[in-house]
Amino acid sequence: MKNLFRNFLNLFFPDLCVVCKQRLNDAEPYICTECLVLLPKTNFHLQPDNRLEEFFAGRIPFRRISAYAYFIKGGSIQTIIHELKYKNNPGIGVFIGELCGENLKGSTFISDIDFLVPVPLHRKRERQRGYNQSLEICKGISRITGIPIDNETLIRKVNNQSQTKNKRFDRWKNVEDIFDITDDNAFKGKHILLIDDIITTGSTLESCAKEILKCKDTEISIFAVGTAG
Ligand SMILES: [Zn+2]
Repeated sequence: MKNLFRNFLNLFFPDLCVVCKQRLNDAEPYICTECLVLLPKTNFHLQPDNRLEEFFAGRIPFRRISAYAYFIKGGSIQTIIHELKYKNNPGIGVFIGELCGENLKGSTFISDIDFLVPVPLHRKRERQRGYNQSLEICKGISRITGIPIDNETLIRKVNNQSQTKNKRFDRWKNVEDIFDITDDNAFKGKHILLIDDIITTGSTLESCAKEILKCKDTEISIFAVGTAG
């Protein structure tokens, strides 16, 4: 009955591909097959010393860093992330997380990860948006890989997220000491995969990683859906 109603609605309001706005068929949630095939994947998880790892080298100690696809201005990943962050569409985050999970599955990049940890939003920002987009991405990755999520231990104590126009140095200053760990033992001896939507300057991830690395014998890897370069 529910399907019948959905099909009826679909006659008048068909589901459209988020990227190309063409009509989707029933087997295509959010993104059509053509657009999926064309996503500009990096496959950095298969390349130790990739560009992202070079970018973070010397800033923080890490095991591995990767992103699913290139973030190109006006490109498909930009459209998908915009839909996830500003169009009240958490489902597309889980869906893209599942794609990331399929991409990473079976690789050494995730073989000894203990927890997926989303970059936290400040409580106020999460209330405004209704969800944390990085947590939705984690849910998709977890569904495919079986790796558990820890969404409790790393928290954002300062809300600095409206200052998007500052230069890199100012932003870096702003993200010092904005995160906190609620339980030092939770991450002790663990290999954490920190998850974000996009890597741009890397300053937020750097700040998160520094906080996590204060826990004893903790190791960090980083993964995002998109990377600017
Ligand atoms: Zn499409």
